[in-house]
Amino acid sequence: MRTALIAGNWKMNGSLALVERFAQAFVETRMPAGVEVALMVPSPYLDAARQAFGGTLVATGAQTLHSESGGAFTGEVSGSMLAEFGARYVLVGHSERRTLFHEDDAAVLARVKAALAVDLVPILCVGESLTEREANRTEAIVLGQVAAVFDVLEPSERERMLIAYEPVWAIGTGKTASPEQAQAVHAAIRARLKEYDAALAAGTRLLYGGSMKAANAAELLAQPDIDGGLVGGASLQIDDFLAICQSAG
Ligand code: 13P
Repeated sequence: MRTALIAGNWKMNGSLALVERFAQAFVETRMPAGVEVALMVPSPYLDAARQAFGGTLVATGAQTLHSESGGAFTGEVSGSMLAEFGARYVLVGHSERRTLFHEDDAAVLARVKAALAVDLVPILCVGESLTEREANRTEAIVLGQVAAVFDVLEPSERERMLIAYEPVWAIGTGKTASPEQAQAVHAAIRARLKEYDAALAAGTRLLYGGSMKAANAAELLAQPDIDGGLVGGASLQIDDFLAICQSAG
């Protein structure tokens, strides 16, 4: 079946010292069997994270990449650079990227393609705003964001994707989707994937993100279509993050 993945997204936070402290904690703490852990650190920390987490089962990942493989794009980082520094995963389409950096569905698709081209595993982030939820447009928005990428990918590319459902109104707000609300959207995403292929739907890991913390992780992760978490704020607190990882076992 689907292996649980708890992925921390440090966003623009952390330090070399925090990388070292997390690595030490993961050396000392045994993870439950069948749980994968990944940390999406700021790109400058990837190399240090790869070395520090080398003796642990924690994978590293990046939070974004450019859609081009190289060229005159001052300030940007390509997928091959991230891969060279040990990244396994990369977030694509996080709501902060969509909103603050104006990445639309076409930009998200281009980044997914760029990630797949260098064997990074894209975690496609999707989610509705509060206004969209209140207008009963949650499924239309979320499934539209999924389709904008999956419709274009080859079947063999679709199989390499993860999806994170992150309701925008739950990100960094302390408001979490209820397990029922999250499960309903996850089930809708899985049903949408079934339109491509039943095995794809059964095999794709769907993560929940949005104020996931030690206190609410277990009941979210117990839902049949929630296969892990994408954790922001709580992934910067070692004890909280370890507790979330433990509750995925
Ligand atoms: P919080 O866990 O801080 O709400 O952030 C969620 C998120 O955006 C993870 O990508």
